[in-house]
Amino acid sequence: MQIITEPREMQAISEKLRLNRQLIGVVMTMGALHEGHLSLVRLARETAGIVILTLFVNPRQFGANEDLHRYPRPFEQDIALAKAAGVDYLFAPEASGIYPETFQTSLVCGTLADKFEGALRQGHFNGVATVVAKLLNITKPHIAVFGEKDAQQLAIIRRLVADLNIDVTIVGAPIVREENGLAVSSRNIYLTSGERSNASILCQGLQHAGTCIALNRRDLSAIAAEVDAMVRSVQGFIPDYVSFVDEETFEPADNAEQGREYRMIMAVRAGSVRLLDNAKFLCR
Ligand code: AMP
Repeated sequence: MQIITEPREMQAISEKLRLNRQLIGVVMTMGALHEGHLSLVRLARETAGIVILTLFVNPRQFGANEDLHRYPRPFEQDIALAKAAGVDYLFAPEASGIYPETFQTSLVCGTLADKFEGALRQGHFNGVATVVAKLLNITKPHIAVFGEKDAQQLAIIRRLVADLNIDVTIVGAPIVREENGLAVSSRNIYLTSGERSNASILCQGLQHAGTCIALNRRDLSAIAAEVDAMVRSVQGFIPDYVSFVDEETFEPADNAEQGREYRMIMAVRAGSVRLLDNAKFLCR
């Protein structure tokens, strides 16, 4: 595995790989690699002969009061994990390489980014979209794999690629969970052991939603309120939102139409950590 830090060098390597007719897959991460990230690498590997993993804690997607400075950065461990997973190139630029002093052009997302995570984290998705566009231009992949764990981000990236005619296939990867159902995340290390075991309530909430829908309930907002109450019943767990949404627009859905799919999304504050989870349901 080669470690590259300079955008120009990464771009030159990718250009050469493309000229040699290699299929390039990219997985974009902020590091502190875990089984969720590695599942994305494996999925990329199924299609791509060359896998590039980017590791960049993007300052532009953190708000002023967020955890940019305490975000975990176990670089040596990440190198070992990426190598073991069969990554070909680890692209780990400096912030000054991605945002030099001359930098001034950013992307502005549309209404998809105004809701839920976007409403609570001002400017977050503009920062994500800008860095994703830059990393796509630097790594020149044929496919890019993103986790469904960040479902709104995935929808925004699909929109970005369509709107800007970027020639890449976006692949969504299923959520990897711990044994108790908690979605794996780099920030889970900040949970106390009590919070960690209580965090199974999110997954139980999604399962409750699945059961309701299997029983042909159509009252999505009432089901979401039940899940909200389940989560709230755990001491110290405060939902920021629990809602069913349309998969593409992220417009809230109150009542289900037969034959349509909806995603239940939730964000929950648990102590000092925000937990995200979601699942897709088909209403038969
Ligand atoms: P992050 O490093 O948190 O920015 O995540 C990098 C990529 O990994 C994103 O596409 C995430 O959606 C994805 N990801 C993070 N956690 C998981 C998980 N538990 N299962 C699947 N994908 C994940």
